[in-house]
Amino acid sequence: MTEANTNPTEELNPFKIAQKQLDKAAAVLNLDPAIHALLREPLRELHVTLPVKMDDGTTKIFKGFRVQYNDSRGPTKGGLRFHSQETIDTVRALAAWMTWKTAVVDIPLGGGKGGVICNPKEMSMGELERLSRAYIRQVGRIIGLEKDVPAPDVYTNPQIMAWMADEYAFLKGYNEFGVITGKPLEIGGSQGRMDATARGGMYVIREAAKILGLDTNGATMVIQGFGNAGQFAALLGVELLGCKIIAVSDSKGGIYNPDGLDPQAVIDWKRENGSVIGFPGTEQVTNAELLEIPCDILTPSALESQITGANAKRITPKIVAELANGPTTPEADEIFYKNGVYVLPDFLCNAGGVTVSYFEMVQNAYDYYWDVETIHQRLDEKMTSAYHAVHETAEKFQIDMRTAAYVIAVDRVANAIKVRGWV
Ligand code: NAD
Repeated sequence: MTEANTNPTEELNPFKIAQKQLDKAAAVLNLDPAIHALLREPLRELHVTLPVKMDDGTTKIFKGFRVQYNDSRGPTKGGLRFHSQETIDTVRALAAWMTWKTAVVDIPLGGGKGGVICNPKEMSMGELERLSRAYIRQVGRIIGLEKDVPAPDVYTNPQIMAWMADEYAFLKGYNEFGVITGKPLEIGGSQGRMDATARGGMYVIREAAKILGLDTNGATMVIQGFGNAGQFAALLGVELLGCKIIAVSDSKGGIYNPDGLDPQAVIDWKRENGSVIGFPGTEQVTNAELLEIPCDILTPSALESQITGANAKRITPKIVAELANGPTTPEADEIFYKNGVYVLPDFLCNAGGVTVSYFEMVQNAYDYYWDVETIHQRLDEKMTSAYHAVHETAEKFQIDMRTAAYVIAVDRVANAIKVRGWV
């Protein structure tokens, strides 16, 4: 799931990138070599083959994965992607990043991830439902609210989570809603889950802006990717931070207007026309051009390896707020650090989603539901304290923000491993 890069020598395999990032933090921490070796690999993974009846009467065979990277701090937790370019290494990387994400915001969970190789854009609702149920019939044996808890990610949504929770209830013989998060409210979803990833990111940007002396009111924001994370980033960037959204994009390309876009109008346009492209009063740009538009805050919200050694020199915002997982390669990170571009790393910046998913699990366990104000307040507390801890660690060790986030997260996971007696 990576875009072509002009530098043939740069490593773009997301799992190798995740391992390289870990190695850098391990050196800062002087990490026990056995713990380091353990944390470079997933503990468990399941590969599944899924027969699905298609609308035309044929049966199509799909491949899927579930990776349980590390559960030393609690049940593994992580989203599920439906994507035509899905690979096991992408899922491994995403599962590793989930391990660091739950640790950096200090929620009692580990890291996991799932994926199915399919093109959901070419599938009917009936086909998607049958695929979702087929996935749970295979993966159901290794998930569970005390084992591993999936959630939505790229091209999966609350409806897909509902079908999966329903199929799991049939397997068990009773409802166990906490097995999946990001569900609709009718079956144990949480208030505030839909915009949680973007909202958490906005809280982190707000705190970073205070440290950097950046007034977010009127600050320009560019957003790559216009799905769950990107659309709410646009809405909340305006509502919570007073930003001016000047460019957004989806898989078909981007739109730019230096005077600012009305996020809700662009969302409505995309719903009606299938893409942001063609939104009145805008200039069309490619996804590559969009990343290089001068702005205060760049918010990658699409896929991994978008910012590489090849284009990072030309990307010069004050803040890169990574709502996407893995958008920046290690080579690009070094360029940003040298150029003073302040990176809010993915597993810190986008941890709002898993944090509210955790709140959803807690509410499911107690069968007692919180109001949206409580969710927002508790999310804000988690994100704000995680951000400041990472910033202080970066200052203390004179390292970049991503490595600082790793230092905190890896230390927490390593301590759990030690106290359990694994190493
Ligand atoms: P989504 O399926 O809702 O939206 C994905 C968006 O990216 C779509 O608008 C799509 O058109 C666009 N896109 C796809 N390929 C693109 C490309 N090459 N260039 C530009 N845009 C492209 O997915 P989402 O849930 O918003 O996830 C987006 C990113 O955020 C992913 O990296 C995901 O892992 C991460 N993330 C999501 C959540 C969550 O709660 N949804 C939580 C944490 C991290």
